[in-house]
Amino acid sequence: MSGSSDYLSRRAKGIDASGIRKVFDLAAKLKDPINLSIGLPDFDVPEPAKAAAIEAIRAGHNRYTPTQGFEPLRQRLRKDLSAELGRDAGEVLITSGVSGALLLAILAVIDPGDEAVFLDPYFVMYKQLLALAGGQAALVDSYPDFRFHADRVEQAITPRTKLLMLNSPSNPTGVAMSRQEIESAVAVARKHELLILSDEIYEPFFYPNAEGAGRPPSPAPLYEKTLLLRGFSKSHAMTGWRLGYAAGPAELIAEMAKLQQYTFVCAPSPFQEAALKALDVPMDKAVADYRRKRDLACQLLSRKFEVVRPEGAFYVFPKAPAGLTATEFVARAIEHNVLVIPGSVFSRRDTHFRLSYAAADEKLQQGCDILCSLA
Ligand code: PMP
Repeated sequence: MSGSSDYLSRRAKGIDASGIRKVFDLAAKLKDPINLSIGLPDFDVPEPAKAAAIEAIRAGHNRYTPTQGFEPLRQRLRKDLSAELGRDAGEVLITSGVSGALLLAILAVIDPGDEAVFLDPYFVMYKQLLALAGGQAALVDSYPDFRFHADRVEQAITPRTKLLMLNSPSNPTGVAMSRQEIESAVAVARKHELLILSDEIYEPFFYPNAEGAGRPPSPAPLYEKTLLLRGFSKSHAMTGWRLGYAAGPAELIAEMAKLQQYTFVCAPSPFQEAALKALDVPMDKAVADYRRKRDLACQLLSRKFEVVRPEGAFYVFPKAPAGLTATEFVARAIEHNVLVIPGSVFSRRDTHFRLSYAAADEKLQQGCDILCSLA
C-alpha cells in the first residue's frame, strides 16, 4: 500500500459520482437558489400517515418486522395489485425504498458478465448497481423522442442479456410508455426470455395529454415474468422514510428476501405501519397540481427550448441551446441562480438538461424565465 486510500475497492472507486457532485458543489455556493433540480415532490407527507407513524413509534412498534415486511401491508398491497393486474400479483416484499428493491433485484438476477438492457437517458442508479454486481448496462439511445423503439432494443440484446429494465413514467424525461410500446416491450421480453424489471415509482404521477387520467400502462398485467417495483417516496413524499416494494414471481421474491435478510434486514418498521394508512389517503390533489405544473413548465420552456412534452413524473428534459453542451449551459444557469441537472448525469449524451417542476409556481416561473433569457 503506497497511497493513503489504497485500501479502497475497485468496486467503490469504479463509481463516478462527479457529474452530480459538480452540480451540488456549484449549488452549495448559492445563497437562495431557484432549485429545479430536486427529485421529490414539494408537498409534505399526508397528516394521517404522519400521525400513524408517531402512533406506531409510541406503541413500541420499533423492532424488526419480518424480512418480507409488515404482514398487513404486504397483504393489502398484494390484494390491491392483484385487482389492478387482473391476476395474482405474486409475492410482495417490502423494501428500503425502490433503491433497496433495485439492489436486491440486480443481485438476485445478475451474474458477472450478464447484461441488462434499458433506454438512455436512464435513472442513474441502474448503471451503477449493475456495475456493483459485475454486470453490464446495454444502453439503447432513445433520443430525440425518448420513446421505446423495439427495433433498437432488439439490437442491444445478446446471449448474455437477462433483464429488460423499464421506467415509465421516466426519470429524467417524464415520458410514459404507451400501451403499444408496452406490448412491444413484452413481445421482445417473451422472444428472448427476459425478465422485465418495471420501475413504476412515478406511477401515480400520470397526466396523459388526452384528457382522462387512469394509470400508465404496465407490462405486469401482460407478462408474469415481470418484477414490479413501486414505492412511497414520490407518491406520498416520504423520500426519507425509505419505503418501497417489489411484487413478482415467487422464486425471485424469495431470493430477494434472502438477500434483504443479510443486508437491509427489513424496511423501517413504524413507517411500514404508516404506509398502510397512507394507502387510504387520496392524493388526487397533488396529482392535479403536478399536471398543472407540467403544463406551465412546458408552456414556459417551449418559448426557447425544444421540449418533449412529458406525460408523467415531475421532470422535463429540454434540449440545451445550440452551440453549448448541457454541462456548459447548466453552469451558466447556476451562475444565474437556477439549479437544473445536465443530461450527462443520466446519459451518454450531454445535450439536454433535467428540470424538476416539483416546485412552487412562482419559483418555477422565475426559473424558466431565467433559463429562457439565457437560451
Ligand atoms: N427509481 C427511479 C426512477 C427514481 O427516480 C428513484 C428516486 N429518485 C428511485 C427509483 C428510488 O427511490 P426510493 O429509493 O426513494 O424509493
